[in-house]
Amino acid sequence: MARPLHADIDLDALRHNYRLARDLAPSSQALVVIKADAYGHGAVACARALGGLAPAFAVASLEEATVLREAGVAEPIVLLEGIFAPDELERVDALGLWLVVHSEWQVAALLDHRPRRPVPTWLKVDSGMHRLGFDPARAEAVWARLTACPERVTALHLMSHFATADALDPACFQHQMTTIDALARRLDAPTCLANSPATLAWPRAHGAWNRPGVMLYGSNPLEGGNDAARELRPVMTLRSEIIAVREVASGEPVGYGGRWHAPRPSRIGVVAAGYGDGYDRHAADGTPVLVDGQRTTLAGKVSMDMLTVDLTDLPGADIGSRVVLWGEDPSGARLSIDEVARHCDTISYTLLTGILPRVPRRYRHL
Ligand SMILES: *Cc1c(COP(=O)(O)O)cnc(C)c1O
Repeated sequence: MARPLHADIDLDALRHNYRLARDLAPSSQALVVIKADAYGHGAVACARALGGLAPAFAVASLEEATVLREAGVAEPIVLLEGIFAPDELERVDALGLWLVVHSEWQVAALLDHRPRRPVPTWLKVDSGMHRLGFDPARAEAVWARLTACPERVTALHLMSHFATADALDPACFQHQMTTIDALARRLDAPTCLANSPATLAWPRAHGAWNRPGVMLYGSNPLEGGNDAARELRPVMTLRSEIIAVREVASGEPVGYGGRWHAPRPSRIGVVAAGYGDGYDRHAADGTPVLVDGQRTTLAGKVSMDMLTVDLTDLPGADIGSRVVLWGEDPSGARLSIDEVARHCDTISYTLLTGILPRVPRRYRHL
């Protein structure tokens, strides 16, 4: 028998979440974000699972787009940060990619290039996040230069990104939205604005296109959540088994540094999963874990290949018992990755993208 740790990827859940995103924004098209290997889920498998559903995909680099094209993914693919050097335009053209331009040098390179066919281009504007994009005051002039070159640039859209669409306090979001609305009206430009939280919570931000990412994988990005977010289904289940059980006396320490001490005579289960697999070493004592579909907690520091859980109140649990570290148990019990992330002082994005190559992915409902 092989090591029991697996990342099971439920592609039906991915399609369910995609349809939810689409139905929340019926007048928008979804630019499905599958950067970072689809947030750790496997970009090729996810793109294929959404074939015929998703109108376009988004990635972070030419390398990520190349993997998809070589696997036969034929839908439009947007490079969210555009090119990193002018010589990438040749490949952009050959692969038929769509481009974001966020900096003057990218605009100059694009207008210098003679593509086989005009490149669908998204002009990135900084509406307040202050990461990528043109200042709104300069955007009109850049827009005019791009629209003046229809043999190089086509299907121009305005793109911007929100810094706080997930937050309960709407002030910063509304300020960004006001800036973008004014610019889009002046340019009569179609927009692409909404990430997952804005797709879920801010219909005002739904443009010609949206850019849902993490919600497609079943994580709720909203501080507090809402009804739509509660309908998301987990796509990844990180699953393993109990490989050893021991009794420890009251007061005995468990694991590295003896961080956890048994508050009573306790039964400890050892799970085959550790930080060498990408399970976060910052997980605190008390982090929830499902054993045979029932909730229990992490007891002691996560090691490289193993972690320990408290089985004292689960007398039926033993060697071979099912363990779910996040996702869905066959009994139907669920453990939200967002809840696990809070116990690790992080966010679902880092847990999902952090699952390491030694964890075999198993795809369900191809
Ligand atoms: C990653 C990314 C997204 C998706 O964000 P989520 O919070 O995962 O929905 C959207 N737009 C841009 C520019 C991104 O880089």
